[in-house]
Amino acid sequence: GEPLLQVENLGKHFPVTAGLLRRQVAAVKAVDGVSFSVHKGETLGLVGESGCGKTTTGRMIMRLLDSSFGRITFEGQDITKLSQQKMRPLRRDLQMIFQDPYSSLNPRQTVGSIVGAPFRLQKLQTESGVKKAVQDLLELVGLNPEHYNRYPHEFSGGQRQRIGIARTLALKPRLIVADEPVSALDVSIQAQVVNLLEDLQDELDLTYVVIAHDLSVVRHISDRIAVMYLGKIVEISDGHDLYAAPMHPYTNALLSAVPIPDPAGRRGRERIRLQGDVPSPLDPPPACRFHTRCWKAQDICKRIEPPLVELAPGHQTACHFPENAPAGATELVARAA
Ligand code: SF4
Repeated sequence: GEPLLQVENLGKHFPVTAGLLRRQVAAVKAVDGVSFSVHKGETLGLVGESGCGKTTTGRMIMRLLDSSFGRITFEGQDITKLSQQKMRPLRRDLQMIFQDPYSSLNPRQTVGSIVGAPFRLQKLQTESGVKKAVQDLLELVGLNPEHYNRYPHEFSGGQRQRIGIARTLALKPRLIVADEPVSALDVSIQAQVVNLLEDLQDELDLTYVVIAHDLSVVRHISDRIAVMYLGKIVEISDGHDLYAAPMHPYTNALLSAVPIPDPAGRRGRERIRLQGDVPSPLDPPPACRFHTRCWKAQDICKRIEPPLVELAPGHQTACHFPENAPAGATELVARAA
């Protein structure tokens, strides 16, 4: 059916100005034309190094940040340019989970007032109704409902992220963008919070976009994964296929950094060390933006941008020389370019 969320050629360029007249002299191309869709009940992982534009993309979807171009459709409605006032009824449907639960929880408020704030704001319930609703939510996220009157500092990092998740769930959102939901947590706790997100998805029929810099975090939770590099999606596919047969050299490099068993049963992946740093999005390399760090780069990579092409069912990649690709892939890419 129709996707819950559709993103088409979405971009964000931040102007760089100079001089007294603040004339625009350049633009930071934080997000430079990304397209994807997310279906109801699905989880899309959005992965890449810091600066690749994944958080900016998440914030545009939530309409916390205006886009420079492109289109965002939510439940069939074009929300790209809706005024904040027109967005208000949609605010309940679109919620975000942040990386650092501590900084987003007011230290002087009790858990009860933090998690209950959305109810109070929307004047949905009486005070005793709010208390009951908050306690139900605390239970849902695995916290003790009796801890209603405690303060954030009385909880561990993992518990604080659970409080943040409870607050997010208060208004029964349709789509949740989780921006690095576990990267501030101890590795030992990360799996618990990821499992919680999965359980909640089943129970509440949630749809997620999970943003992470690390492929290991999104591996279990994602149905599909989009890999971003310097403002563009370089590969998007079913999660299993992405791990089993990554096509873009950058995805291969990211995967090689993750200590996970190879699903195809081969021996451990060879560690690929990327050369140099991520180039500045102020002046991204021409054509294939990855060419300055790619060990497979050839002359054409510096001249012609490889388009995102579907090389296997549901598996798109943007590379002139994809790996693990079916025969004829290079010709397919050349024809599309
Ligand atoms: Fe590497 Fe060329 Fe593919 Fe870019 S297009 S990822 S430079 S092989």
